[in-house]
Amino acid sequence: LEKVPSDIEIAMAQTPKPVSTLAKEIGVLEEELELYGQSKAKVELSILDRLQHRKDGKYVVVAGITPTPLGEGKSTTTVGLAQALGARLGRSTFACVRQPSQGPTFGIKGGAAGGGYSQIIPMDEFNLHLTGDIHAISAANNLLAAAIDARMFHESTQTPKALFNRLTPAKKGVRTFSPVMIKRLQKLGINKTDPKDLTEEEAAKFAKLDIDPETITWHRVTDTNDRYLRKITVGQAPTEKGISRETGFDISVASECMAVLALANDLPDMRRRLGDMVVASSKSGETITADDIGIGGALTVLMKDTIKPNLMQTLEGTPVFVHAGPFANIAHGNSSILADRVALKLAGTEEGEPSSAGGYVITEAGFGADIGMEKFFNIKCRVSGLVPDAVVLVATVRALKMHGGGPEVSPGKPLDDIYTQENLETLAEGCKNLAKHIENGRKYGVKVIVAVNQFSTDTPAELELVQKLSLEAGAHAAVASNHWALGGEGAIDLAQSLIDTCEPKNENGEVLPAASNDDFKLLYNDDLSMEDKILTIVKEMYGGDAIELSDLAKSQVETYKKQGYGNLPVCMAKSHLSLSHDPKLKGVPTGFTVPVRSIKLSAGAGFVYALCGEMQTMPGLSTRPGYYDIDLDLSEDKPRVVGLF
Ligand code: ADP
Repeated sequence: LEKVPSDIEIAMAQTPKPVSTLAKEIGVLEEELELYGQSKAKVELSILDRLQHRKDGKYVVVAGITPTPLGEGKSTTTVGLAQALGARLGRSTFACVRQPSQGPTFGIKGGAAGGGYSQIIPMDEFNLHLTGDIHAISAANNLLAAAIDARMFHESTQTPKALFNRLTPAKKGVRTFSPVMIKRLQKLGINKTDPKDLTEEEAAKFAKLDIDPETITWHRVTDTNDRYLRKITVGQAPTEKGISRETGFDISVASECMAVLALANDLPDMRRRLGDMVVASSKSGETITADDIGIGGALTVLMKDTIKPNLMQTLEGTPVFVHAGPFANIAHGNSSILADRVALKLAGTEEGEPSSAGGYVITEAGFGADIGMEKFFNIKCRVSGLVPDAVVLVATVRALKMHGGGPEVSPGKPLDDIYTQENLETLAEGCKNLAKHIENGRKYGVKVIVAVNQFSTDTPAELELVQKLSLEAGAHAAVASNHWALGGEGAIDLAQSLIDTCEPKNENGEVLPAASNDDFKLLYNDDLSMEDKILTIVKEMYGGDAIELSDLAKSQVETYKKQGYGNLPVCMAKSHLSLSHDPKLKGVPTGFTVPVRSIKLSAGAGFVYALCGEMQTMPGLSTRPGYYDIDLDLSEDKPRVVGLF
C-alpha cells in the first residue's frame, strides 16, 4: 500500500464545494436550506412534508466488533462506504453521523470525522462548533439547572402564599396561570384554570415543589474535559443564605437534552420530551419534571434550531448529515432519528420507480455492536418505527488478534509484532468475537455484512481467513475494504455487496420485489419487566448468564414501576471494551454475571439506563492534551486551523 498522508493533510488539500451546490444536487430546495457559511447548512424539517409521499431509501447501520481503545474504523467505514455508493456507483447516498463533543477534540487525539481518504470536511468545522447545536444544548441544560436551585432558594425563603402570588403575578389586576402551570395543576389533580378559584391548600400544593435536594439528578454541563467540575458545591455566596449543596458538571453531550434531540420525531415531540425530563423528586416522592418547574417551553425555544439536521460533505463531495451526539453509555450513542428520516426521503423513490432509482442511508452506531447496534435497534428504531435493511459490521485484523490473545493495545504505545506480522492462529481465535456479533445482528432478523477495514499490515491470507470465518458464522457477505487508503474506490466491493444484499435479483437480473427488511424484530417488548429486559440483553447480546441488581437498583426498579416508567426500554451503560461488563475480558467471555449498580431515569429521552460499572460523565485532560498541537496558522491570507488530529 502507498503511504497515506495525515488526516488533516488530506482534509485540508480538498476544497469543499459550496453547500448550496451540494443541496441542489441532492434535491434540497433553496427555501429548505439555512446556510451557516459556505460549507455547512441546516435543512428545514418542512422537507419531510414535501417528500412524504416518497418511499424511503435503504437504511443501513454501521456497527463494529468489540474495539481496541484505538477504534476500529466505524466512522471511516461509514464515510468510505457512502463515498463508494455515492461518488463511485452513482447511488444517492447519505452518511449520518454524530456531532463530536469538543471535549475529546482538545483532550485525547482521535477524529470522529473518519480518517485517511474517507473523511468529512471541513474537519475543523465538523469538530468545533458546527452550527452551535451543542452550545444550544448546554444553554438549555444550564438554564434548567439554574432554575432548580433558584426555585429551591425561593421556596425556602418564602411562605407558600407569597410564592403563589409571585408565581401568578397580576396583570391589570388579574392573576393568570401560564399553560405549563395548568399542566402541573392537572398532574396534581386540580382541574382549575383560574388562580382565584384555588383553595389555600391547593395554592400551596401548586406553589411548593418541595424538591428533595438529595434526589436531584440534574447536573450542569460544559463541553470541555474539566475534571475539577466533577464534584462542586454551589450556593456559597452570602446572598444564598447558606442554602448550598453538592452537585457536579457533566460534559455537554451527556445532557439528557442531547438524548432528547437525538430521539425526537418532530418539534412538538421534542417539546413534550423536554418538559417530561425528570430532575428530582419531592420530599413526598413525587417526580419533579422540567414542566413542573415551568421551563419546558423555554428549553424548546433555546433548542429550536438544533432540531434541523446539519448538512456537510465527504472528501468526495457526497452528502453527510451530522446531527446530535448523545453519549454511547449513559445514553444511546446514535445520531438523530430526524437526520435519518430526512436522508431516507432524499434517497427515496417516487411512486412507480424501482428501488434501483433510490439510494442509501448509512448511519453509524457508537461503540461495539453489543452496545451501539443493540441500542440502535431497541431504542432508536423502537422510537422511530424505522426498519433497517442491513448491518455493516466493521472488523479489523488488529482487534481480532487482540481478542485471540494478543497483548493489550493502547494509544501512544507501539504495536506488538503480532499485530504487524501474519498470525493466522491468533486471528482465527479472535474471530470468535466477530462471530458473536454476527449472531447478535441476526437475532434482529437483519442481514449482516462484515467489512474488514483493511490496514497496510494485513496480509491476503489474514483477510481471506476473516472473510471465510464470517461466512461460516452466518454473515450474509464479508468483504475486505480499503477505503481508508483509497477513498470510495477502495470500498466499491463493499458497496456492491450491500446493494446485492438490499436489492436481491432473480436469475434474469431483475430486482426482486420483496423488501429486504421484512424479518426485522426487536429483542424485547415494552411490557417485559425492567429486570427481564436487562437479563435478555445480557444473555442474548453479551453471552452472560445472569444479572445481579444492587439493593439500590432493586428499589429504583420498584420506584420507576410505580411512577409509570416500567415500560421504557433499557439503555445499558457498560464498558465497550468487552462483550461483558469487565473491560479485561476479551474474545467471547461466558459464565459471567453482570452487576447493575444503579438504574437512572431519562424520562424525556424515553429510557432508563442501567449502570454496570463506573461511568465517567466528565472526562479529564491528560498531561499531554491535543491542544498543544492546535493553532491558527496566520502565515497566509486566510487563517487556517492546524494540528487537529
Ligand atoms: P471508530 O469510529 O470505530 O471509533 P474511526 O473511524 O474514528 O473509528 O477510526 C479511528 C482511527 O483509526 C482514526 O484516526 C482513523 O484515521 C484510523 N483508521 C481507521 N481505519 C484505518 C485504516 N484502515 N488504516 C489506518 N488507520 C485507520
